[in-house]
Amino acid sequence: MRCPFCGHEDTQVKDSRPNEDGAAIRRRRFCAGCGQRFTTIERVQLRELMIAKSDGRRVPFEREKLARSIRIAMRKRPVDEERIERIVNGLVRQLEASGETEIPSAQLGELVMDTLREVDTVAYVRFASVYRDFREARDFETILGSLTNVALREAGTDAVRELGAASREFGEAGPDRPKGR
Ligand SMILES: [Zn+2]
Repeated sequence: MRCPFCGHEDTQVKDSRPNEDGAAIRRRRFCAGCGQRFTTIERVQLRELMIAKSDGRRVPFEREKLARSIRIAMRKRPVDEERIERIVNGLVRQLEASGETEIPSAQLGELVMDTLREVDTVAYVRFASVYRDFREARDFETILGSLTNVALREAGTDAVRELGAASREFGEAGPDRPKGR
């Protein structure tokens, strides 16, 4: 693998270990060219998943973009990184198990919302308020306002703002907003 720092072609694997659930292998690599170290993650990919967007475009599904949006939605919630990884793995497995190679973006969005709803109400509301295009913004404010913890409320507002930005990026490879909602 080429060094991401200097472009040197030859990097050496120093250490390989499976992650917690054995679904991935992390490799520590060393570049003989510049001395930098970096990590690569190897995962099973059963098939190439594509996301079919509502405007007719098809883009490759990107796990990292999905994970990033979920991480933002979960910010300051009592859900640790390991659990988030398991949630993302579970979502990817569901997509792969669907047997489809092409997933409508609206379906992915609904799947994420269904999952978040079960895990954490606040994270669900954050994600849903962005995904549903703030049409339900008043509901969102009501739910957010019912949170008595001011810091949590502020964290929620920040998270939603950031999710809005992430969802534009998400829109390139994740669920976009359903039209007409
Ligand atoms: Zn290098």
